Amino acid sequence: MNKFDVIIVGAGPSGIFCAYELTQKNRAKNILLIEQGKNIKQRACPIEKANKCVKCQPYCNITCGFSGAGAFSDGKLLSYHLSMHNDGDEMYLGGNGGSYIKNYYSNRDIKDLLTYTDNVYLNFGAEPHLEGIEHRDEIIKLQTKAKKEKLNLVDIPLRHLGTEKSQELYTKLQDYLEKNGINIMYDTTVKDIVIENGTAIGVQAYSSYDKDAQTTTYYADKIVMAVGRKGANWLSNICEKHNIKTEVGSVDIGVRYELSDEVMEKVNKLLYEGKFIARTSTYGDKVRTFCQNPSGFVSAEVYKDSLTLVNGHSYKDKKSKNTNLAILVSHHFNYPFNKPLEYGINVAENVNKLANGGILVQRLGDIYRGRRTWQKDLDTNKLEPTLKSAVAGDITYAIGYRTMTDILEFIKSVDKVVEGFANPENLLYAPEIKFYSNTVVVDKNFETNIKNLYSIGDGGGLTTGLMMASASGVQMARNLIQ
Ligand SMILES: Cc1cc2nc3c(=O)[nH]c(=O)nc-3n(C[C@H](O)[C@H](O)[C@H](O)COP(=O)(O)OP(=O)(O)OC[C@H]3O[C@@H](n4cnc5c(N)ncnc54)[C@H](O)[C@@H]3O)c2cc1C
Repeated sequence: MNKFDVIIVGAGPSGIFCAYELTQKNRAKNILLIEQGKNIKQRACPIEKANKCVKCQPYCNITCGFSGAGAFSDGKLLSYHLSMHNDGDEMYLGGNGGSYIKNYYSNRDIKDLLTYTDNVYLNFGAEPHLEGIEHRDEIIKLQTKAKKEKLNLVDIPLRHLGTEKSQELYTKLQDYLEKNGINIMYDTTVKDIVIENGTAIGVQAYSSYDKDAQTTTYYADKIVMAVGRKGANWLSNICEKHNIKTEVGSVDIGVRYELSDEVMEKVNKLLYEGKFIARTSTYGDKVRTFCQNPSGFVSAEVYKDSLTLVNGHSYKDKKSKNTNLAILVSHHFNYPFNKPLEYGINVAENVNKLANGGILVQRLGDIYRGRRTWQKDLDTNKLEPTLKSAVAGDITYAIGYRTMTDILEFIKSVDKVVEGFANPENLLYAPEIKFYSNTVVVDKNFETNIKNLYSIGDGGGLTTGLMMASASGVQMARNLIQ
């Protein structure tokens, strides 16, 4: 029987936590979770063995499959609810999505929701130890130093799972959902949403291994889209086709920056992840560091079947001598061009072309000297790159002048707070791009302008990280049941 109470499209953290909370609130519900990638037990990225990205088919194992982009993530669970040190402090919730949620929910409600979500993670084996809560005096000293350079240093306590522990935790969640009656279809891609008279009534899906196969229609009273950044482009097209309301979003373009643990020692020790945020002096653009991985590894991920983007993660046990983090510049477009997603894709494609289809890497000193980096330079560089498959070259051919100026100004400012941040041997990998698609307009219940069609997680621009994506899933389930 192809009729369900709820269909959730996408088994990333937002979809999983929606399903989990539905099992808690109403065991009688008949729920279908559809995921285009594999069961988590079959997910594996061959890059370490092959020493290069082999572009897994039908989908990238880093971004698709049960637990979405979460499985191979660094597993930093940001405890935003613990970031308010004094009553009345502003609660920082990450990118644009955070402010969207704040439109509808009070700080108190968000705090309760995040505490609950954090506890679910703890019950499934998350690290009890919190990074970034000790050494308050030293953190405040560092923040004051940053302020003098017009940099805001946001401190958010976090639990670090590491890539291997993330997989273990999400495997337990998968087992739990399967045992508790959630129907999960793996290797199944949703092609379209079925809408009749302004109401969503089902989805059309096909086997991920056979794009030309006939689709099957699955019907439901409520349909939740939880498709993540992997599905952002698909979601944009669906919104355009069905007149689902969106707002023009932004695209974050930048680099994955790699430098020695020695340089980052203090920030790593005090905060594990230091979030530096600034407005640059030339353009006034917002630039920020994101997803810091002490003793970590730079990684590659494949989107849209061919686009290769850079990212980073770290293991709990296996360590490198380098820290990596993203330096991202937010770009907004309005008139006459208003397609930030397309702009980002163009930048990424150009970088990929220069790197023979993959990731490009350049030394900071070479950018200052106006020359490309060669493999022989990397071979003798004081800092050894952790992504061996990255191709040495010149990223400034492909990254726009404005973005590049922002990044270089930002690196110089942070260097005044963290000595060595602008060392010439530091490495810039590209393209690091965060596609948020256009933000899907939703109401307090996360419902779109199409009745019974909902959007949660990173894909619709509501959230930007594991914790917030998971919390949006919990809240979604509660909204469905009230
Ligand atoms: C390498 C890496 C490291 C990261 N590290 C961290 C970190 O340390 N901390 C942190 O907070 N965040 C981290 N992130 C980001 C984090 O993983 C995401 O914010 C989070 O996974 C978003 O959850 P989501 O449910 O919205 O989407 P996703 O996790 O992207 O899941 C969406 C799922 O939907 C599926 N899907 C998409 N379209 C369709 C379709 N048409 N039909 C069926 N299924 C579909 C996809 O296959 C995917 O499995 C990292 C990401 C990466 C890639």
